[in-house]
Amino acid sequence: MSFNDELENRLSQMKEKGLYRTLKIMQSAPETEVEIDGRKQIVCSSNNYLGLSNDRRLIRAAQDAVETFGIGSSGARLTTGNTLLHEQLEKKLALFKKTESALLFSSGYLANIGVLSSIPGKSDVILSDQLNHASIIDGCRLSRAHTVIYAHVNMVELKKKLEATGQYERRFIVTDGVFSMDGTLAPLPEIMKLAEKYKAYVIVDDAHATGVLGKTGGGTSEHFHVHPDIIIGTLSKAVGTEGGFVTGSRILIDFLRNHARTFIFQTAMSPAICAASYTALEIIEKSDEKRSRLFAVVGEITKRLKDMGFNVKGGVTPVVAVLIGSSTKAVSFSQRLQSKGIYTSAIRPPTVAEGQSRIRITITSEYKDNEIERILDSFYITGKEMKVI
Ligand code: PMP
Repeated sequence: MSFNDELENRLSQMKEKGLYRTLKIMQSAPETEVEIDGRKQIVCSSNNYLGLSNDRRLIRAAQDAVETFGIGSSGARLTTGNTLLHEQLEKKLALFKKTESALLFSSGYLANIGVLSSIPGKSDVILSDQLNHASIIDGCRLSRAHTVIYAHVNMVELKKKLEATGQYERRFIVTDGVFSMDGTLAPLPEIMKLAEKYKAYVIVDDAHATGVLGKTGGGTSEHFHVHPDIIIGTLSKAVGTEGGFVTGSRILIDFLRNHARTFIFQTAMSPAICAASYTALEIIEKSDEKRSRLFAVVGEITKRLKDMGFNVKGGVTPVVAVLIGSSTKAVSFSQRLQSKGIYTSAIRPPTVAEGQSRIRITITSEYKDNEIERILDSFYITGKEMKVI
């Protein structure tokens, strides 16, 4: 069998199991509605939680920066890629997260990999939540530390596993702040207490909470009033731009600047993105009303889906999961929603466990009331058609 035949075979097997993935083409910037494959759809799978990716103020900030600094940064931060705009954004991020210092990466994925591959080492152990994001899993693999998985947000199990790992030089607990597939919140106060007792360091990936949780949108640390050792984040969700960052002590950031390979060997993010992100953070700090609206919409959609009889996970963050079952059924559910003008993602293995395939809705503060009604009506009709409810 030729190389391509063998690959094609594997793709066919994925198709049979409903696991094959395809790309959709957005014909414009996805606001609450966008034309996809020639049809207007209400978007229920974007991470633009506060509608900032289309905000005129961000667009203007980026345009001004392009005029001064050009499009690409043309080099790594440690060579010629570092501009005033990178420095200003890092200062802003440190203040925003109430930490001493911050470091930008080209994505949240690379920030997670940069931290985990450079800090924990061979003689250390990482305790990692079972549902942590793929970039944490990859970072653990690259760290060469021993990795121990604990059941999702299960503090009894985390305690047992901390007790059983006393032989390692250092212990790290790593968790998503908000879990991307279930929308659950990590119990950070309990994690911090356990970390103190067992002398472990805490790393939180706050991708989905940044901008959304906490009084000024500072994320899960602000929400729970805790201070993890390392907070990792992304600018690609509520902030509305792209890029990743790490915040923590001045020494931590200095260490990463000198050791994190995904920082050292990658071209710096575009100055225009830095300018737009800075403006976004200024808006986010004063976006109480947007956050209140977001949580009102999350509450309304979750409650009404549950009342209809759906098995719903989440409801405390903008990530809401509607459990369907098999991957083929989840794909069919999302296709039927799409034919009604509702764009969602069917989440399947390996992202979630077998039999746990789901429709994942990500909610934005920008939905109009009539759009919420259209989303709910379409779920109800599709749920009845497919005998899910
Ligand atoms: N962590 C979590 C929990 C995420 O959901 C994501 C994005 N899917 C990332 C990290 C990666 O962030 P980015 O898209 O900026 O690479």
